[in-house]
Amino acid sequence: MGKIAGIDIGGTKIRFGIVNELGEVLAEWTIPTKIPLYPYLEEQILRMKMDFPDLSGIGIGTRGMVDAETGVITFEKELEGWQGTAVKSQLETATGLRVECNNDANCAALAEVQLGAGKGFRRAACLTVGTGLGGGFIFDGRIMNGANGGAGEVGHMILYPNGLLCGCGRKGCSEQYVSGTALRRLIREENVIDPETRDLAMPQHLFRLAVDGVASAISVRERFLSDFAIVISSLQAVLDMECVVIGGGVSDSADDWWDLLLERVEPLKLKPFEMRRAVFGNEAGMLGAAMLIVD
Ligand SMILES: [Zn+2]
Repeated sequence: MGKIAGIDIGGTKIRFGIVNELGEVLAEWTIPTKIPLYPYLEEQILRMKMDFPDLSGIGIGTRGMVDAETGVITFEKELEGWQGTAVKSQLETATGLRVECNNDANCAALAEVQLGAGKGFRRAACLTVGTGLGGGFIFDGRIMNGANGGAGEVGHMILYPNGLLCGCGRKGCSEQYVSGTALRRLIREENVIDPETRDLAMPQHLFRLAVDGVASAISVRERFLSDFAIVISSLQAVLDMECVVIGGGVSDSADDWWDLLLERVEPLKLKPFEMRRAVFGNEAGMLGAAMLIVD
């Protein structure tokens, strides 16, 4: 198949990669995101095509919701003007190459299942615990997209009816309880003080403080992990997956909480399934975007 371009479009930067069908990265670079996005992106892609004339296709992962069949951005509020853009057809016309487009969390999930922690599992759910809580479901090597490209929005499953207000306008979504943002709130609520800085603990240090026995940090950890376990168990009830892969910024500290999460999930399991830590970091979206072209 030769070389494929994988492009991951985020709110502040765009990551480009040239990848072979085995997922090996041959070249990689990052540029800032600019508005209006489409003309800028097309210009950058045409330049890339001159540097790599033997590309067999271009895969694009982007913020927002994407109609994977038409490659049109169906919902995106942060990147002005991006919603409604027919990314696939416009870029196919401009480059003469096959172009596929999907949501960035779905692409990250595809990377983990095709090349990473979920390799070998036919049915996998991948969760990204970062600022928010994202997800992607890969069944038989394919992304489950849903009617609007909105499948896998794990962070907007309602966990607590009439709970905290969510960015989606509803109340009690799981993202308000299981995410880096949620950790920040829990740290304030439980008044977790980092003995080193004598100030409120940073989310990335929270689990270390809990391991060290700081009582307030332990109670944040307990609230966080028990909610997380419920989310995972609900996913099993609807998906019956064989494997859950967990990545994202919060999982950088997973050495300090992984086994405790497994303990909490275990009694909630309807049937056995595996839980794995993601192997890719920030490159997951770019790699998975490239894998959109590998059938
Ligand atoms: Zn929500």
